[in-house]
Amino acid sequence: MPGFSRADFEAVHASGVQVTSVRLNPAKQPDTFSLPFSGQVPWCRDGRYLSERPSFTFDPIFHAGAYYVQEASSMFLWHALQATITEPAGMKVLDLCAAPGGKSTLAATYFEKGLVVSNEVIRARAAVLAENTAKWGTGNIIVTNNDPAHFQPFGDYFDAMIIDAPCSGSGLFRKDPDAVTEWSEGNVELCSQRQQRILADSLPALKEGGMLYYSTCSYSQAENEDIADWLIREMDMESVEIPVEEWGIITTRSEQGAYGYRFYPHRLNGEGFFMAVFRKKGAGSSGRLKEQQLVLPGKQEMQQLADFMPLPAGYAYFKQAESIRAIPEQWLTDLKMLAARLYIRRAGTEIGSIKGKDVIPAHELALSLFPLGHFPALNLQKEDALQYLRRKEFSAEGVKGWNLIRCEGLPLGWVKVLPNRVNNYYPAEWRILKN
Ligand code: SAM
Repeated sequence: MPGFSRADFEAVHASGVQVTSVRLNPAKQPDTFSLPFSGQVPWCRDGRYLSERPSFTFDPIFHAGAYYVQEASSMFLWHALQATITEPAGMKVLDLCAAPGGKSTLAATYFEKGLVVSNEVIRARAAVLAENTAKWGTGNIIVTNNDPAHFQPFGDYFDAMIIDAPCSGSGLFRKDPDAVTEWSEGNVELCSQRQQRILADSLPALKEGGMLYYSTCSYSQAENEDIADWLIREMDMESVEIPVEEWGIITTRSEQGAYGYRFYPHRLNGEGFFMAVFRKKGAGSSGRLKEQQLVLPGKQEMQQLADFMPLPAGYAYFKQAESIRAIPEQWLTDLKMLAARLYIRRAGTEIGSIKGKDVIPAHELALSLFPLGHFPALNLQKEDALQYLRRKEFSAEGVKGWNLIRCEGLPLGWVKVLPNRVNNYYPAEWRILKN
């Protein structure tokens, strides 16, 4: 392949060098960071390199969603979006292979006023995706847990699709020694076939003129340029060129002339990665979509909620089991259409539940971008904040009732202050287990 050098590739793998990077959340900037920043990821506005890998678990603002730990090469999606979509507001985007949520949280920032449907087929991974997207805090994500084929009824529905496909993983050889032992030519072939199946199953859901961002962390042509050729030959897609600067990225052309962008660890600060961008030429068939009616909160419940906190305008409220959730009004109909066909794991933002006369605020509310300034807050220093995140004792005195726990200005979660104790409402399943 162009740009590949066996000697340099082997040397960079033998060097023991590890590159660590994070992507900052522009909606959640703490008073101070304690990360060892060492530079900007050139192809992503919010991407930063770190000079060493800190323990993210013991950084409270990591749990507040101030940043996402993401491999630098894969942040190229940001540049590809910037180069191809100048007006992201109002767009509907499907991230089909989304867990643990790197591309989805990036897309949720880029499509701030759009909708990101973030799908993961494996159930346990969908739970992690729900957690990471909740921490990110933007209310524009719907997490689904479906097979790609389940999106077929959504003909001509999405403006853009991100398919970060399961792959043979050679691009992660430096980071993950297990990837080396698990690699085989047979697996490359299996992955290539699976990638075609995922694309064939889901592409009907892309609109005419809609954009596809296809990526892998594999070096194999069978999973990259060959897939690009197949998309052009069989799937009515056309290749889109992405201008790149002197960043060390290698531009390839497939047999059909499709542009591909290859990332090699010996040429830049990042792991192995491939991305190619396409536009859909033909239209599919768009039928009328069924809508599932949502359960709406009653008048009295809404009044109780409004007495508890100021409810921002422009949101629709609905119920899921006992909780009340909010989603930007413009996406309510879409949520109903998605809910009629898909398993919705998490939609919009959970506000809280009503128990008799009380409103119990949801953890997602604390992590959201909703204005929360009117709630009393306990500002904790790092050690106490970590105790809170472990659901252990910490020293604090707050006013009676619900208080937000903040660290470096960012909310971490809730406590309820009672006359003789403080009840910790950090979700048990998310607590830090390490000491
Ligand atoms: N996009 C994610 C991110 O940026 O954090 C990483 C995605 S990872 C490379 C590929 C994902 O595809 C995995 O979460 C995996 O569970 C999922 N997957 C595996 N088999 C699949 C299939 N047959 N169809 C769709 N997704 C699949």
